[in-house]
Amino acid sequence: MDTARLNLNELSPEELHTELSRFNLPGFRVRQIEKWLREGASFDEMTDLPLQLRSELKDYYSDGTLKIINKLTSKIDGTAKYLLDLGDGNIIECVLMKYKYGYSACVSTQAGCKMGCTFCASAKAGFGRDLTAAEIAGEIKVMSRDAGVNIGHVVMMGVGEPLDNYDNVVAFMRSAHDPEGLNISYRKMSLSTCGLIPGIEKLMKEDLPVTLSVSLHSPFQEERARMMPVAKKYSLDKLLEICKTFSLETGRRVTYEYAMISGVNDTDGHAAELVRLLGGTLCHINLIPVNTVSGTGYRRADRERIDRFRGLLEKGGLAATVRRAMGRDIEAACGQLRRKAMEDKSGQN
Ligand code: SAH
Repeated sequence: MDTARLNLNELSPEELHTELSRFNLPGFRVRQIEKWLREGASFDEMTDLPLQLRSELKDYYSDGTLKIINKLTSKIDGTAKYLLDLGDGNIIECVLMKYKYGYSACVSTQAGCKMGCTFCASAKAGFGRDLTAAEIAGEIKVMSRDAGVNIGHVVMMGVGEPLDNYDNVVAFMRSAHDPEGLNISYRKMSLSTCGLIPGIEKLMKEDLPVTLSVSLHSPFQEERARMMPVAKKYSLDKLLEICKTFSLETGRRVTYEYAMISGVNDTDGHAAELVRLLGGTLCHINLIPVNTVSGTGYRRADRERIDRFRGLLEKGGLAATVRRAMGRDIEAACGQLRRKAMEDKSGQN
């Protein structure tokens, strides 16, 4: 994408009409352009427009399409991981997953992340910038066009902290919900956060019935703060308090993500403390066998341990599932592809 040019995807329908009025186009041409932009087409792909018009559009604007630098497809389950170029040197990744209920996109909300969680690959590759609403939607469009499928679910669990890019992420969710656009229902959107309390409070007031996922990873404040620096600022007890309010006010269960790391947070004591903290609240715990990231020293808890842990949570009355590993053969851990691409790039300089 050429960032020096105005990206037509960033405009509201009214702004787009005003912008295109300089070409004196008949109404049907404007509608054609609108439709193509909604689908994420490049100017070259807008084949029912006259060549001359396409070339004029190119002179003035960017079509906002994100370039696929690399794509890896899992031989095991068809999960496809995309590495995309934002056009200004920044690289992001997103994933297309196929479930029984349809296709789901895992999108990045920032090029990089400032949160510094010790187990996460994204933290290690540095921070570039926030993504715009149109760029986040662009991830879904590019995957949908490339794979020729309709995407009905989106999880904001790629690179970045969605609540650290609050306005753009909320604008993205509203635009993705638009029946004329991606037409994804709010209930099929999940926003995952490491626990930025002010953002959760704001989100609660937006009237957006999306699923809130909170990365927990430890039921002990000090241990959690060692793994997730953000917890030094926003403590576990305050976080759980706001999550409980969120589920009471929205009537929706909060999902807690819990990466199972061998010998670190997978003991019976951890399970017991989770039961004590979360028992009786409207929630769901998603146990994620941790993806090993080089340089972290963390190892994945073995399957028996994870099953026992889940059993203890269930005995304590908590709903818990183990996340199915998708695309195990294609480095599925968030941010690993991007990290490698960024390292390769700096190696070239
Ligand atoms: N910043 C947001 C969303 C991005 S990460 C957040 O923190 O929630 C999406 C999820 O993947 C989070 O739960 C995150 O903690 C988890 N995650 C990060 N690195 C991981 C790894 N190596 N293995 C398993 N899960 C990981």
